[in-house]
Amino acid sequence: MHDDRALVENRLKRVLDERIRPAVYPASTPLDVAVWHAPGEPVPVAEGLTASPSPIAVGDAWGAPWGTSWFTVTGTVPAEWAGRTVEAVLDLGFDENMPGFQCEGLVYRPDGGPVKGLNPRNQWVRIGSPVEGGEEVRLHIEAASNPVILDYHPFLPTKLGDRETAGSEPQYTLARMDLAVFDETVWRLVIDLEVLGELMAELPVDGARRWELLRAVERALDAIDLQDVNGTAAAARAELAGVLATPAAPSAHRISAVGHAHIDSAWLWPLRETVRKVARTASNMTALLEDEPEFVFAMSQAQQWAWIKEHRPEVWARVVKAVTDGRFVPAGGMWVESDTNMPGSEAMARQFVHGKRFFLDEFGIENEEAWLPDTFGFAAGLPQIIKAAGSKRLLTQKISWSQVNKFPHHTFLWEGIDGTRIFTHFPPVDTYNCSMKGGEIAHAARNFKDKGVARHSLAPTGWGDGGGGTTREMVAKAARMRDLEGSATVVWETPAEFFAKAEAEYPAPPVWVGELYLELHRATLTSQAKTKQGNRRSESLLREAELWAATAAVRTGFAYPHERLDRIWKTVLLHQFHDILPGSSIAWVHREAEKTYAAVAAELNEIIGDAQRALAGDAGSGELVFNAAPHTRNGVPAGGAAMAPAPARGGLRARDEGGYVLEDGLLRVEIDDRGLVVSARDLRAGRETVAPGQAANLLQIHPDFPNMWDAWDVDQFYRNTVTDLVDADEVTPGEEPGSVRVVRSFGRSRVTQVLTVEAGRLDIRTEVDWHETEKFLKLAFPLDVHTDRYASESQYGHAFRATHTNTSWEAAKFEACNHKFVHLEEPGWGVALVTDSTYGHDVTRTVRASDRGTTTTLRVSLLRAPRFPDPETDQGVHRFRHALVPGATIGDAVREGWFLNLPERRVAGDAEVAPLVTVDDDAIVVTAVKLADDGSGDVVVRFHESRGGRARARISTGFTATGVAVTDLLERPLAGTAAPEPADGSVAVSLRPFELVTLRFSRS
Ligand SMILES: [Zn+2]
Repeated sequence: MHDDRALVENRLKRVLDERIRPAVYPASTPLDVAVWHAPGEPVPVAEGLTASPSPIAVGDAWGAPWGTSWFTVTGTVPAEWAGRTVEAVLDLGFDENMPGFQCEGLVYRPDGGPVKGLNPRNQWVRIGSPVEGGEEVRLHIEAASNPVILDYHPFLPTKLGDRETAGSEPQYTLARMDLAVFDETVWRLVIDLEVLGELMAELPVDGARRWELLRAVERALDAIDLQDVNGTAAAARAELAGVLATPAAPSAHRISAVGHAHIDSAWLWPLRETVRKVARTASNMTALLEDEPEFVFAMSQAQQWAWIKEHRPEVWARVVKAVTDGRFVPAGGMWVESDTNMPGSEAMARQFVHGKRFFLDEFGIENEEAWLPDTFGFAAGLPQIIKAAGSKRLLTQKISWSQVNKFPHHTFLWEGIDGTRIFTHFPPVDTYNCSMKGGEIAHAARNFKDKGVARHSLAPTGWGDGGGGTTREMVAKAARMRDLEGSATVVWETPAEFFAKAEAEYPAPPVWVGELYLELHRATLTSQAKTKQGNRRSESLLREAELWAATAAVRTGFAYPHERLDRIWKTVLLHQFHDILPGSSIAWVHREAEKTYAAVAAELNEIIGDAQRALAGDAGSGELVFNAAPHTRNGVPAGGAAMAPAPARGGLRARDEGGYVLEDGLLRVEIDDRGLVVSARDLRAGRETVAPGQAANLLQIHPDFPNMWDAWDVDQFYRNTVTDLVDADEVTPGEEPGSVRVVRSFGRSRVTQVLTVEAGRLDIRTEVDWHETEKFLKLAFPLDVHTDRYASESQYGHAFRATHTNTSWEAAKFEACNHKFVHLEEPGWGVALVTDSTYGHDVTRTVRASDRGTTTTLRVSLLRAPRFPDPETDQGVHRFRHALVPGATIGDAVREGWFLNLPERRVAGDAEVAPLVTVDDDAIVVTAVKLADDGSGDVVVRFHESRGGRARARISTGFTATGVAVTDLLERPLAGTAAPEPADGSVAVSLRPFELVTLRFSRS
């Protein structure tokens, strides 16, 4: 037979596009439309419903950027449509090529009841089926004219990303506002033909099934009268029934479709818009669940649920009902889908505490999977945190975005730094917006790396970010692929149902040890420095507030601010969302974040101040030093307060060759007349830190214009060009005794640094008035250290990375994340670099010709200046603190990291404060001391082994404990775990490397 595939395939495309799809709505009549434009920010629903609208017509422009317009549409169902199915077709001016990221609407009945969302791929509202004719129709649409930020020409700088700069030009043209007859038979024919046509395109040309589908499609097209599609659609469908009924092969891949809408909690829109995006999508999904009995929808991010509850009670009532029916499912058990590289230990834990608790409190539901489809890499501390929260699984597809290496598994055990293993699944469909296209389903089946031993994968199905979630078309396509020859099978299931099957069929999956590094979006460790700094400061202040409030509550009856801390934690957790903390949101989001962090700091400082004053007693003449760090500092115990002298700072003298010398008896630092650190001599070890002939504290600037994703990406070629900022405007003694001040100008920017030496540590305070564009600023420390690997702090421990680039996996990690420290060492001697707010860094090595020694260069990333999505990213003044700690062991690195981030506080008073909790082994770091969240007054203490070794210690309580329990992160006693026996006011503990423990002490 002659090969006529192309003819039939092209015929299918044209007839579908030009004849069959248009016949879905064979008759229509325009609705009357009026509109009221809310003058500023969104208004309450009642106000929008009762406002006085003015007429507007299809073809009219509407919608200033970020505006809200309330449309009222009215009409009468024509009498001659009696017995038909009628829908309103409401096209606000959508671009169907982009399923989200543009204008959207939520349709209300006149009584304020939500009907469903309007989205580019979801423009219909069912009026009746069948109608009687003559029905009066009146609907209200709360429409948001969110501008398109990510366009057909992506990543171009735009002023649309902030209401303050976006202007007032209308963004959309009203396209269609009709009542229309819906021909369900034609609609079903469209789905049949799409499923079969898309499957056909994926099948091998030399297989019989492809040709069976081709001939069936051809017969169906022959059966259609192109002048009477509605009258002949049933006959066409009959031609397809046979090939749709042939069952899948027994070995077919099995896809668990989970209804989903990935909604970024802020990104190319502000937080307030996400509140409405979530309401629109939840309205759509509760409506779809009512129409489609087999459909299941999962929604993550407890914060988004909480928004619906608070702001859209009418939508919330529908969600609660669907949850009760078991078909609208809480996923993920986290407060938001956060970044997991940068959040500190406790914050990462609290993401799960607050997420899981919300679902438990509202629904009594506890899910067991971390649901992070879009997060930019996964720190190796995460498995232990997931487990400690009472969960046991992880889902993400993001690692499929890696530029270089293909991850070898889709289903595997992920092992973290402490040895905890988590059952992990990467959906092989490689998207979190699956739309049930044949190409996606075939890709999932082909791509699945665990074929032969496993057969199940998950497909998050639906449009996110304003696309409205799963569509009825996706549900209809899935139904046809339930059991279809040539296709993977598709069934709607909850994440838990999928994981149960996946675990059961794969009892010994392969293991991946260490971080899940995303070989992309590496610049998210640096972009929007103020947001990152706000996060780090907030985390430190929350620790202090809990510690001092708990101490004051136990000692003085101070009212522990449960409600305030709960609220502030949730604010900080929200801002760890994977487009806020990473710095990849529009200007509006980061401008607001800065204000929010300032308010958070003010409120936490107030709590800390109140608690410390309660503890310090009635002033007197003394001055107490409060030490919130987990190690004794300057004689003040960890978590206590005592009188203490100011720490001794090293002295300053002129250097013979020009410049200055700073020295404190432990460390001698030489700063040359360029303001560069040419020597940092560890006087105890008699050893030089800086590589010979090189200079540390060297600022370096690179051009930084990635090929895509400006705020997200730094591409490897950025290193090809570098300028060393060695010219100083001034190198002088600083205003403070024992300090050197260095000023440099470059481009349109200026840097002022103040260097001091104290306690064997070189402190560097850097102020940058930054006015560059598309540049990357690094602070370099070429170190005389020979090592293959280095440690970076992560959650509840640290992880190692290579200093070399032997493999493509190592080479791809050319920018990586640290928390408070990076540490390098040779046997017997090491050096740490600690930081108060930067996360990005890189480490490289060279071998010197002069002495064949190895220079390991550590560079911390200070600032970038991408122009998309925020054209003014990072412009302005920034302040950073770093410290170089020569001679540091890993334990020293841990301690100095905490010290830098938790500076001592001096408070008037003379009542020394004994710590609530004392640990007699410095390897154990207490990360939280707080009162139990349930208001019982119990004291909760969380700690971990911090050096990667074993620790045995006694934990002593500075109060009378009547009992102790080992708990999970949610402060629930762990079943089957023996509590340590209290003796003499203390308990003995023994910890594995990096082991995390939560103890809950009850009080009389
Ligand atoms: Zn996302």
